[in-house]
Amino acid sequence: MDQFKGNSILVTGGAGFIGSHLCKKLSSLSSNLTIYDNLSNGKVENVKHLPKVNFVKADIRNLKKLYSQEKTDLVYHLAAQVVVPYSMENPIEDFETNAGGTLNVLEKARKDDARVVFASSAAVYGNTTQLPTPETHGFNPASCYGLSKVVGEQYCNMYSKQYGLEVTIVRFANVYGPKCHGVIQDFLDKISRNPEQLEIIGSGMQSRDFVHIHDVVDALLLSATSDVAIGETFNIGFGKTTTIIDLAKTILRILGLSGKTVIKPTNTPWRGDIKTIWFDISKVKEILKWAPKISLEDTMKELIMERKIIG
Ligand code: NAD
Repeated sequence: MDQFKGNSILVTGGAGFIGSHLCKKLSSLSSNLTIYDNLSNGKVENVKHLPKVNFVKADIRNLKKLYSQEKTDLVYHLAAQVVVPYSMENPIEDFETNAGGTLNVLEKARKDDARVVFASSAAVYGNTTQLPTPETHGFNPASCYGLSKVVGEQYCNMYSKQYGLEVTIVRFANVYGPKCHGVIQDFLDKISRNPEQLEIIGSGMQSRDFVHIHDVVDALLLSATSDVAIGETFNIGFGKTTTIIDLAKTILRILGLSGKTVIKPTNTPWRGDIKTIWFDISKVKEILKWAPKISLEDTMKELIMERKIIG
């Protein structure tokens, strides 16, 4: 990955889950890396041990502050309000961060003529009957979060067409791995508090496409270095879907709690939730020559061990 050498890289949201894993890798490839994060969800501990990294605690809604950062060659734009139910309760804040903040980051990239990789989401598809879902599927977001990501994507496409900015959009499915948040972490937290009962929000029949963070970091590196990625949008998932109830059963089996812990679906989904995420990943396989290598089954035990619930 010599392409990163000598390049100045800006990672927004670099103290978060995906960003900190990406920055760990980038810090070994580049000597000019800036993390720009307001720490609303990320933690400075995630990145403070990384060598040669410049950390800036600031908000992407602050254009002046973005402009004051040194000229950059590449921007990974990961900073976002990431919680779907929160977006439904706070749609304006969600829009200001995810749509307005993205516009600010694009302006910084335009000023510097920097390449951009934008983190989008399965939430742009919403509820779809086309499964697995390809990138050509239209936008049908079911949440304010999904809609603000659509707006972010549309600005990226506009900047690419009108200003010739080199942009790649990556739509993530459900990313998991060490330090992740989301449903796996939520289950582990609940079980460690009360091993007798595991509450599932919704029916448990909703399903997700789980992709490991190490595979995601590989896809992010390729997205910024491969010429064929410019102007493209890619689904980054495993290409398989797992119901939440099956996920719960797998976790309980690994913990030796099958038959002991009662699984209790609330049967009421949260507002903005979607039923199925299942990505068609043939495009990214063909164009970027990327394919996920790590399966959920292979890594679940490791994830649980990391939380020290067993062993
Ligand atoms: P995260 O919350 O761990 O990371 C986001 C980071 O952005 C946090 O460190 C947070 O402090 C920072 N941030 C939030 N608002 C900010 C603001 N206004 N200014 C500056 N920094 C701000 O989330 P993540 O899981 O690492 O997600 C990274 C990106 O990937 C997000 O854009 C998210 O929408 C997208 N994504 C993630 C997943 C997933 O499964 N984790 C799935 C789909 C899309």
